[in-house]
Amino acid sequence: MPDLSVFSSSYAEARGRFVDAARAAGARVYEYRDPRQKGPQGEALCLDVAIAGPEDAERMLVAGSGTHGIEGYSGSAAQTAWLLGDGPRRLPKKTAMALFHAHNPWGFAHKARGTEENVDLNRNFVDHVRAYPENAGYAEVHPIVTPETWDDATQAALFRGLDELRARLGEKAFSTAFNGGQFSHADGIYFGGRREQWANYAFREAVVKHVAHAKHAAIIDFHTGIGPWMEHIYLCFHPEGSAARKRARDWWGERAVNLAGVTHKALADYQGVLIDAFAALLPKADVTCIVVEFGTLERKEVQRANMAGRWLRYHGAKHPAQAARVHAAFCEAFYPSDPRWRAAALEQSAEILERGLKGIGG
Ligand SMILES: [Zn+2]
Repeated sequence: MPDLSVFSSSYAEARGRFVDAARAAGARVYEYRDPRQKGPQGEALCLDVAIAGPEDAERMLVAGSGTHGIEGYSGSAAQTAWLLGDGPRRLPKKTAMALFHAHNPWGFAHKARGTEENVDLNRNFVDHVRAYPENAGYAEVHPIVTPETWDDATQAALFRGLDELRARLGEKAFSTAFNGGQFSHADGIYFGGRREQWANYAFREAVVKHVAHAKHAAIIDFHTGIGPWMEHIYLCFHPEGSAARKRARDWWGERAVNLAGVTHKALADYQGVLIDAFAALLPKADVTCIVVEFGTLERKEVQRANMAGRWLRYHGAKHPAQAARVHAAFCEAFYPSDPRWRAAALEQSAEILERGLKGIGG
């Protein structure tokens, strides 16, 4: 059983462990601090970047956590465990590891998915000067997923409404409408925002500062909530036939690109995701991007948790006792407390990082 003390119960604790482990490993730590706001305990909210290995390395592997706030607890544990292990001493030549801790620190600290503006950071990396991508289907989703109450009858009606819409639109169009990202309803789900979020800005600053020099760059963005319980799945958005897609397959195996284990019947066409922004920022490098998801509950329960998270944000304060129960269930859906789950996530993330380093190290 791996040491599970790397799993934290608050953002401040996770951040402290990460920074301490980074310093102990001899990594350099850089802080990108949100100047506008603090966390619920008055703590600073930061994207922290720890670099192990030469900072000017031509091969840079980025491993990031917390794009979806609450999902950052397991990614943070994976990062800290890597720093505490022998990984930093076994880096391939001309290769550095850049650990990005808490892409969305507000969501991490508040144990929420989105940012302070209800924005899904992983839909916010679009061009905010141009017209936003259309998601016409979301107008039909919105009234279904935004109830003011959160009791059993409401949830049953909500899922009936979604089933009916899915049957009418078909799986692919339904997925895109539901979770592809939308820019029309600020109080809805999977909202991409109407401006760049601070977390978006901080991420791009950090990529330019720490990775732009690299000839070969890769990113692993750690998430939770898709895939079977205690297993991980990969999401690779590189086009079929591309060199980047081939690298992902070479490094992590066929399952990196064939959606093995993905429980969605059809994947949405996602807008504005973080790993695409990473690639766009590095036009001169060979870039390999992958999302890793640690599976938690079954698909329907994760959907329920996402919509519960939205209810909590807009209606939870009026029902504090119920909100506490709903939030506990929400956290369990993205950050399971079961030690077997946590051990599996740690063991698997160690192997994923190892493979990524070996892959980029050539
Ligand atoms: Zn996620």
